Amino acid sequence: MKILITAGPTREYIDPVRFWSNRSSGKMGFAVAETAAVRGHEVTLISGPVILGTPPDVTRIDIESADEMLEAVKRELPAHDALIMCAAVSDFRPKIRSFHKLKKSTMPPVIELERNPDILQQMLPYKGNRVFVGFAAETDNIHVEAERKLREKGLNLIVANDVTQSDAGFEVDTNRATLIYPDRDPEQLPLMTKVELGGVLIDFVEAQSMV
Ligand code: C5P
Repeated sequence: MKILITAGPTREYIDPVRFWSNRSSGKMGFAVAETAAVRGHEVTLISGPVILGTPPDVTRIDIESADEMLEAVKRELPAHDALIMCAAVSDFRPKIRSFHKLKKSTMPPVIELERNPDILQQMLPYKGNRVFVGFAAETDNIHVEAERKLREKGLNLIVANDVTQSDAGFEVDTNRATLIYPDRDPEQLPLMTKVELGGVLIDFVEAQSMV
């Protein structure tokens, strides 16, 4: 199969040296990409700024902002059978981006934000028979929030994880996830490495493609 994976944070620039971003390290998306390539799939990895090496046999496209990630996903999706959105896309961006460094004296005390496009929702009309997998990093009402996102984004599977736990979610090599599906009971997975979780997700994508 041809599998498109996104990873890492996005950066939303305020001026040439300052940006709005989040704590995503990219480890989850890179682990999924590595596992998919080891299994013999053709993998394209669209990544925000991270300090990870590209896994062997993976085609990597580097982007910075959510808009750039959207453009890359739009361009690549038609050639792929599955989209796994591991990226922590910034939901907001500064309304005004200065192309000159803002001076301390002129820096506004309040930075106005506007919504970024939702990449999965924008890709929904082009889904066809493709398998879409999303992630939900939550701190409260984890299952309720993840189920809402599963429905709103038209996903085949959402991976919910509680990012308040020190061994799950951001920056660490392990994850404790619940898999939430549109048509069957949620599945609580034990603590596992991100590479192992990547294997579970690729199993799912492979099984869906045979339905
Ligand atoms: O940010 P949120 O919790 O809504 O993210 C859930 C899923 O949606 C993730 O898979 C993320 O990659 C994706 N997403 C997206 N476009 C956004 C925000 C999130 O595709 N602007």
